[in-house]
Amino acid sequence: MGSGTVINIQKYSVHDGPGIRTTVFFKGCPLKCWWCHNPESQNQKYEIMFFQERCTGCGACLKRCPQKAIELQDGYPKIDETKCILCGKCTDFCPNSAKEYVGKDVSVQELMKEIIKDEVFYNESNGGVTFSGGEPLIYSDFLEEVLKRCKTRGIHTAVDTSGFASWDKFEKIADKVDLFLYDLKLMDNEKHVKYMGVENVNILENLKKLSDKGYNIYVRMPIVAGVNDDDENVDEAIEFISSLNIIQVNLLPYHKMGMDKYKRLKMEYKLTGQEKPSNERMAEIKDKFKKAGIRVEIGG
Ligand code: SF4
Ligand code: SF4
Repeated sequence: MGSGTVINIQKYSVHDGPGIRTTVFFKGCPLKCWWCHNPESQNQKYEIMFFQERCTGCGACLKRCPQKAIELQDGYPKIDETKCILCGKCTDFCPNSAKEYVGKDVSVQELMKEIIKDEVFYNESNGGVTFSGGEPLIYSDFLEEVLKRCKTRGIHTAVDTSGFASWDKFEKIADKVDLFLYDLKLMDNEKHVKYMGVENVNILENLKKLSDKGYNIYVRMPIVAGVNDDDENVDEAIEFISSLNIIQVNLLPYHKMGMDKYKRLKMEYKLTGQEKPSNERMAEIKDKFKKAGIRVEIGG
């Protein structure tokens, strides 16, 4: 059972399933989507985020580092990753909050304590708790235990997943999940490898199996212009979804929120020059789903 590493436990979420919810964002994801707006959730290891605009180059963090892993370069602290043990001391002692430690291990009891705090809001709004990420199924044993305890208390549970996990992990948790929020990004396998870093075969198979077994599923489809908004991909997704038993599709237009985080984590943002898909294109795609008899919403 152990612990789970989270980046955030967000209260009062209204976009991660029905009602008012607490969303638990786990750290670690097997996919590396080019447009990911939570890049700090990709790496399972702890990380240090650096906000250069807040840094005055005072050097306080250099003195606090037990590993002598930091030196000033061009007036800013640079961490030597070969020496850094991710102890987080440099974040604690920065007077300007220019460094932020990303990642926190939580036990089942600690997480339940947080979830239970807002039980009254879940009850009043038909909400609950959503496990997201990153990929929550990376922590399948831990997740199973938390889900079990939520079910015992009657708390509605949703799992937001990339679908990229072995089927036995889905089997372990599925009976304790009231709703799957299942990402479907690209039908073409080669393009999927290019933009997500992994094949989509097992993602499609797992979705089919969940559907065949009658679990409640919302399919979430990010729409990224020039990547997956073409008729070919949309039509193929519609054909596949039509063969399944899902409740609804949520079309999520690409946005640039989270772009700054890449610089702060020294990661590359590969989707440069990308704009939000037009309202007209979003409406056309929505219409295609509707015409195929699929319940569909933009956003959510
Ligand atoms: S996390 Fe710890 S070891 Fe790494 S640079 Fe900061 S103080 Fe040094
Ligand atoms: S302590 Fe903070 S403000 Fe000072 S050099 Fe380090 S990161 Fe910059």
